[in-house]
Amino acid sequence: MARWSCIRARAPIPTPAPSSTAVGTPNRVVIVGGGVAGFSAAQELRARGYAGALTLVSPEGLPYDRPPLSKGYLLGTEDAGRILLAPESWYTEHGIEVVAARAAALDLSPGRPAVALEDGTRLHADRLLLATGALPRRLGIPGGDRAVALRSRTDADALRRVLVPGARIAVVGAGLIGAEVASAAAALGAEATLIDPVATPLVPAVGEELALRLHAMHSGRGVATLVGAPVAIEEGARDAGPHLVRLADGGTVRADAVVVGIGVIPDTALASAAGLAAEDGIVVGSDGSTSHPAVYAAGDATRVRRQDGVVHLQRRAEHWEAAVRSGQAAAAGILGEASPEFGSPWFWSDRYGVHVEAVGTMDARQVPGARTVLREADGVPAAAFLVAEDGRLLGAAAVDQPLVVRAARRIIDRGLVPDPDRLADPSVDPRKLAR
Ligand SMILES: Cc1cc2nc3c(=O)[nH]c(=O)nc-3n(C[C@H](O)[C@H](O)[C@H](O)COP(=O)(O)OP(=O)(O)OC[C@H]3O[C@@H](n4cnc5c(N)ncnc54)[C@H](O)[C@@H]3O)c2cc1C
Repeated sequence: MARWSCIRARAPIPTPAPSSTAVGTPNRVVIVGGGVAGFSAAQELRARGYAGALTLVSPEGLPYDRPPLSKGYLLGTEDAGRILLAPESWYTEHGIEVVAARAAALDLSPGRPAVALEDGTRLHADRLLLATGALPRRLGIPGGDRAVALRSRTDADALRRVLVPGARIAVVGAGLIGAEVASAAAALGAEATLIDPVATPLVPAVGEELALRLHAMHSGRGVATLVGAPVAIEEGARDAGPHLVRLADGGTVRADAVVVGIGVIPDTALASAAGLAAEDGIVVGSDGSTSHPAVYAAGDATRVRRQDGVVHLQRRAEHWEAAVRSGQAAAAGILGEASPEFGSPWFWSDRYGVHVEAVGTMDARQVPGARTVLREADGVPAAAFLVAEDGRLLGAAAVDQPLVVRAARRIIDRGLVPDPDRLADPSVDPRKLAR
């Protein structure tokens, strides 16, 4: 088990202004999981003046960022040092102990809770934070384990080795990560085939018009797209590539490597084994509180329970900013302080040199009466807005228009009713949309 302690962050993630109140209790916090949620919670605890012991259990060592794994890191333009969330020195300066080990179990019997590591070490704490993230969904078909997923730096290293000029790569799932992998494969000279059962993926995430534009980019960059569902992956014939993907319609795809990107499953193993409430995610309040008073949870592993008149479970977010925010909210919760208000959800994705962002919801099917307003640039849809029947803005998505998305976010968070003609008019400065 390796341990680090560390000094100055390269300020990778903006944090809310530190609270002036230094909190005396709890005296010891253990965070399980060194993804961006666990890291953000540690950063926020210190920013809020928590001065007690702080341990981060992170099997992969110093926390690193995952989005570059399907972008710059996969392309080889960013190295392992560049994607660290903070340099080693930062942990020393902030008195954060990083324990490179896996937690095997939680002990929540009366008394001080504890985390048991795989080597038998027990870490006692006044408060535990579970930030165990998510695991890639696997292909439940014969030979499905031949497909590799992309979640960790190790996965990215292995994938990088096969993305060489001329290699044939089959990517199952044309969602955000699948599309980024296909884009990287094309940039590295590999021959990629993207397989998805849906003709236009990502409609719920960015709306139909932008989804069509984005999906068309694949064939424009030499990536073959197939509408279909794999039913088996078999050993390929000699000299024909080691893998043969069989599709439901009888078609086949030969490949040197098969990548699967069909979503994630929250990693609730520790929580469930300890008896914490979990339902497709560890169930948490907006302050990260779980069904045990000493245990908090954050990030992709969680699902928020809201009380808007009735109690309901929100959809899991599965995006970077949501993980950061939930880590920060859980830090506030651990210290007994009010959770910050964060506003509408946002994500980004990069492919073929374009930058995609979306905020709020773009899933028109979920909102009867909603309509889409488009803003074009150079004759193609560059931004789409989902407007409710009463005129409120529900969501926006855009390609290479970050100012538009920023304005839309302000409009949504303030509950403003925008003028649809101004939204659609590309001559209106995006910075003036929220006025
Ligand atoms: C390739 C890729 C690209 C992405 N790109 C984007 C993007 O462009 N935009 C966007 O908004 N989002 C993106 N995301 C999503 C975003 O990165 C995730 O939402 C975010 O990383 C979730 O953070 P987390 O800390 O909750 O979980 P994770 O990052 O999964 O971290 C969880 C950590 O917990 C550890 N852990 C699990 N079990 C244990 C245990 N028993 N003991 C100790 N530790 C444990 C794991 O090893 C892991 O390090 C991407 C994700 C991936 C994988």
